[in-house]
Amino acid sequence: MVQTIGFIGLGIMGKPMAKNLIQAGYPLVVYNRTVSKAQELVELGARQVSFPKEVSDNAKIIITIVSDSPEAESVILGEHGVIEGVRQGSVVVDMSSISPITTQRVATELSRRGVAMLDAPVSGGEVGAIQGKLSIMVGGEESAFEKVKPVLEAMGSSVVRVGDVGAGGFTKLSNQIIVAGVLQAISEAMVLAKKAGVNIQLVHEAIRGGMAGGRTLDMKIPAFVEGKFEPGFKMDLHIKDLKNALLAGKALGVALPSTGLVHELFSSCSAQGYGQKDHSVIFTLLEQLAGLK
Ligand code: NAP
Repeated sequence: MVQTIGFIGLGIMGKPMAKNLIQAGYPLVVYNRTVSKAQELVELGARQVSFPKEVSDNAKIIITIVSDSPEAESVILGEHGVIEGVRQGSVVVDMSSISPITTQRVATELSRRGVAMLDAPVSGGEVGAIQGKLSIMVGGEESAFEKVKPVLEAMGSSVVRVGDVGAGGFTKLSNQIIVAGVLQAISEAMVLAKKAGVNIQLVHEAIRGGMAGGRTLDMKIPAFVEGKFEPGFKMDLHIKDLKNALLAGKALGVALPSTGLVHELFSSCSAQGYGQKDHSVIFTLLEQLAGLK
């Protein structure tokens, strides 16, 4: 019999990921804080419940994908949380991008009930979530990973176990440091070209085949050209990832100087009221600094 999957968090990422599970034939029990966001999934056959606890009452594999560490901790360990419904042998898979230090603490609490936890953050953005082509980086026990792998494969094209619980989160932080640095660099480069009066679409066309070319450049140029920054990936969420990376760096004694600088600039976007825009809105902040806006 096909396993029922529990799914908590139906935001930009969670909703299409849950849809892909339904399409792969998994019965789904879903919870989202804002009830209306589950409507589309209910129409596709998912059963909606009122608390995270009811999700874990009804499914032994429970996936969570919410914003940050306090939110993940609250849906898993909080009042009416997942922990109140789990049984021996349940597996909690947190796919949010949160602090790996929080992940390890939550995993310890769950292990006291005989419950395994995997941290399985994702990259690939909304498009990857819709297409079921996410890159999924997993930390946790091998046996729990093997149990859950086919479920993850319904949402991603790359599913890699990188180590014990927390390792997925550290991998994701590394990913976010790279994406932020690249985004900052391509935004600076394109603002320079724009102020010099060079058409940035042509700049893109001219450089994309060389060493400066890459996925982030290809993905973000249309937003720079059109000046439209609908998320995608919200700037406030990327600021949260850089904050978590800097905290992890402090905890482990690792200097992350460029990450610190980019965190400051991204945070200024939030101060300008751009926090709910796509993270590529850093381009607009740099345009302002260059006197282009
Ligand atoms: P989002 O659209 O803002 O969705 C956030 C989800 O978390 C919503 O379901 C929200 O519920 C829920 N939530 C927030 N606070 C909560 C609380 N206190 N209690 C219960 N639920 C709560 O964010 P997203 O873009 O889907 O991102 C989700 C996670 O994936 C984040 O950790 C993000 O960093 C990561 N991620 C995102 C992308 C991307 O491109 N968007 C890519 C890779 C990874 P409501 O609907 O009630 O607000």
